Amino acid sequence: MMENSDCLFCKIVKGDIPSSKIYEDDDIFAFNDINPQAPTHILICPKKHIEKIASMDLEDTALIGKVIESAKKIAEDKQIEDYRLVFNNGSGAGQEVFHIHLHLLAGRPFAWPPG
Ligand code: AMP
Ligand code: ZN
Repeated sequence: MMENSDCLFCKIVKGDIPSSKIYEDDDIFAFNDINPQAPTHILICPKKHIEKIASMDLEDTALIGKVIESAKKIAEDKQIEDYRLVFNNGSGAGQEVFHIHLHLLAGRPFAWPPG
C-alpha cells in the first residue's frame, strides 16, 4: 500500500496537511519538525507508507538508503558538518508517528549515551 488515509505523514506528503518543506523528489519528502529538539530538526520520510523499520521488506532497503542519502544531501546543502540521525522504532523507543521518518538533528551538542 502506498498510503494510509489515517496516517499524519501520508497527509503531509500529499499536501493535505501543511508543513514547512525542506526537500522533495519522487520517493522522499522532508520537512521541519513542528516541535524541534535542536536548532535544526528535519524529518525525512519515504513517500511510501511503511510503519516502522521493523516492518520494512527487503525490497524497501534501497528506499531507506535513499532516505539516508537525502539526509546527507540536506546537511551538505545547509553546510552542517556534525549531526545526529535517528529512527525511533516502536513506542518504547519514542516512536509516535507510525510512518518511517529519519530525524536529522543538528546545531547543539548531543549526549552519548543518548538516554
Ligand atoms: P517520532 O516520535 O519518532 O515518531 O517522531 C514524530 C515527530 O513528528 C515528532 O518529533 C513530532 O514533533 C513531529 N510532528 C508531529 N506532528 C507534526 C506535524 N504536523 N508537522 C511536523 N512535525 C510533526
Ligand atoms: Zn503514512
